[in-house]
Amino acid sequence: MYFEKGKQEIALIGAGIMSATLGVILKEVMPDCKISIYERLNQSGAESSDAWNNAGTGHSAFCELNYTPESSGPIDISKAIEIAEQFEVSKQFWAYLLEISCVEEGKSFIDGIRHMSFVTGDSNVDFLLKRYNAMHKEALFDQMVFTKDHQMIKEWLPLMMEGRSKDEKVACTSIPIGTDVNFGSLTRSMINYLSKLDGVEVFMAHQVNDLTKMKDGKWMIEVKNLKDKSERIDFCDFVFIGAGGGSLSIREV
Ligand SMILES: Cc1cc2nc3c(=O)[nH]c(=O)nc-3n(C[C@H](O)[C@H](O)[C@H](O)COP(=O)(O)OP(=O)(O)OC[C@H]3O[C@@H](n4cnc5c(N)ncnc54)[C@H](O)[C@@H]3O)c2cc1C
Repeated sequence: MYFEKGKQEIALIGAGIMSATLGVILKEVMPDCKISIYERLNQSGAESSDAWNNAGTGHSAFCELNYTPESSGPIDISKAIEIAEQFEVSKQFWAYLLEISCVEEGKSFIDGIRHMSFVTGDSNVDFLLKRYNAMHKEALFDQMVFTKDHQMIKEWLPLMMEGRSKDEKVACTSIPIGTDVNFGSLTRSMINYLSKLDGVEVFMAHQVNDLTKMKDGKWMIEVKNLKDKSERIDFCDFVFIGAGGGSLSIREV
């Protein structure tokens, strides 16, 4: 089935950053579509997307070592480049949200912050140097610096260096153009914006309990209102399960 332009009925399960982002994009590309958002809690962005429940790092592969896996040869940075490029697109999207007044000017959900990777021990120091050598030649990472100098790292990360022997092998990379993102605040702005658009209904304290694909290709959604315990059945053309940790149990029903 392809996604036809028009009055498609779409259900977004969960009101975290994923559903909120998809909802805004869908309304941009298909303004006529109808969207129902079901969230089991009383507030959007209150699970993993809430600022207290994640680190808030804007993932650009500046400091996430897992995007450049260790190998005996040169470090493969293709994944890091892909992630950094995708994050640039996210930033463009968020700038656009300001233009359409989806997020409020002055109520920033994003801040600039230095991203650093700190390692100890010979093999990790070697890895970080190899990673740095591969990365800093790329325009996306050309502001990255590397040091093994205790004094410099102490200036960057005083608590990490407290009480360390001067003989300990340590290294650090640092890049000043990282970001810190409050995904909870961003989610709530987007859900609030969506709730005011024609054709969007946001159901808080509504839990999706079952999903069934009908013979005509539509989805039947069984939803429980957690406040008054009533149950409802909705039908739609497309479903997005953005229920975070709850997604698997919805898939299994
Ligand atoms: C400790 C930790 C640190 C992290 N650090 C970072 C980081 O630094 N940078 C980064 O980019 N990402 C980070 N992440 C990942 C990021 O937080 C998640 O990928 C993101 O928030 C997931 O968003 P989501 O919308 O998929 O899920 P959620 O925000 O969890 O939203 C899912 C929503 O679905 C609702 N729901 C669940 N079941 C149902 C149901 N049956 N019916 C209706 N609603 C339902 C939930 O109540 C919830 O509101 C971190 C995650 C964790 C746990």
